Amino acid sequence: MHVCKNDLVAVMSGNEAGKTGKVIKVLREKNRVILKGIKLVYKHTKPSQINPQGGRIQKEASISIANVLPICQNKNCEKNGKGVRTKKKILENGNKLRVCVNCGSEIISAE
Ligand SMILES: [Zn+2]
Repeated sequence: MHVCKNDLVAVMSGNEAGKTGKVIKVLREKNRVILKGIKLVYKHTKPSQINPQGGRIQKEASISIANVLPICQNKNCEKNGKGVRTKKKILENGNKLRVCVNCGSEIISAE
């Protein structure tokens, strides 16, 4: 997986191309992700205690993980703020990092 929960990602293709958002869920089995505030759809709900009227609520729909790339947050990188391809870097202690292929800086999740 090239993106993880809480990553800031850019949508590279599809109807939402050009938008950026935070990953709130990765659906590994389906190869899809849900991004905060992206691809909002209306869901119809039955009346419940919280929402006694029922009706429509807005909710994020998933998009293909292949359509998103993590954003490089290195201010000195020419791709700063844009979606970048990543590569794995293995540290001496065995930990793996995802780094921007352009500048080599670590891709850091928002939280
Ligand atoms: Zn970079």
